[in-house]
Amino acid sequence: MNKHQLYFLAILFLCFSCLSNKKESEVNNKPNLEIYDNHVHIMSPELIKDWKDLGIPFSKPDYYYSNIDSILNINNTDYINLVGMGYVYGSPEFYQGNEEYEKLKQENNYLFKVSSKYKENVKPFFAIDPLKAYAVEELQRCLQINKNSGLKLHFSSSQVYLTEPEHLKKVKSIFAIASENNLPILLHFDNWHPKFGKDDIEILVDSILTNLKPIHLTIAHFGTSGGFNQKTKNVVNTFAELYEKDRIPEQHKILFDISAVALGKDSDGVSKLTEKAFIELKSFLDKLGYEKIAFGTDYPLYNASDYLQVLENKLGLSKSEINMILDKKTNTEKAPQ
Ligand SMILES: [Zn+2]
Repeated sequence: MNKHQLYFLAILFLCFSCLSNKKESEVNNKPNLEIYDNHVHIMSPELIKDWKDLGIPFSKPDYYYSNIDSILNINNTDYINLVGMGYVYGSPEFYQGNEEYEKLKQENNYLFKVSSKYKENVKPFFAIDPLKAYAVEELQRCLQINKNSGLKLHFSSSQVYLTEPEHLKKVKSIFAIASENNLPILLHFDNWHPKFGKDDIEILVDSILTNLKPIHLTIAHFGTSGGFNQKTKNVVNTFAELYEKDRIPEQHKILFDISAVALGKDSDGVSKLTEKAFIELKSFLDKLGYEKIAFGTDYPLYNASDYLQVLENKLGLSKSEINMILDKKTNTEKAPQ
């Protein structure tokens, strides 16, 4: 495996090594609010093994990444969207065997199994690679297992380019099925192409969302792959402009999750923000509007109390701004009709 491949794989999952070394007893000082974390990852023991076999280091014992009780304890929030990562099996950088659909199914099955233990508090977001021939079949299969779940799409792992008519067509049909089934989507939008930005966002808005029945859509990491850089600014600026021009169709509930954006520590391939960058990021939150921003940790990157500390102390959000961000049970209600 060459350096480029390793780097690509590392950024599919932002951080393997970033949880602070606090003991579990020390992370119980959560604020007096019901907290909904929109972005918590889980991996099955098999997936962890497959990552390790590729030489990607994990700094914590496997249960940090795979055990639902440990995850709930360490992250310590009331509700979570538990996000599966089975889409990596569709990436030739990650998996070269010929059982990718079987592997994806196993990963989604693991997600459903562990989530069923905490039906009230954990909403499973299964994964598909929208460009694959089996994408719709897997989507339907997962809906049959749990119609109260969500869908995670990762356009960097799946290398989705909405500028390609074939890709657009496939993604459109996935969004249509999601909308019909009241299935919220968590979208990792950035496909890692240097030109990703305005064009992709306009296609999403004009060609996918405009004639679509209501959907819950959460744009992960403010539309990027984490951190705060020129790409983040372009994405937020483009959305803000489209909102201002009333070009974002009103039937949808669209949120932007702040997970992995306000990085207070270095992570694989993404560096932490300088003091100046935190100040600038704050102005972009103001521009986007706190009613559109949702809380997410990208666990295991952060746990909730540590990330809330970053939002308060490094990003300088006021209590009321933080409360507005926390006040989003994004995906529990039905989509607006
Ligand atoms: Zn993530």
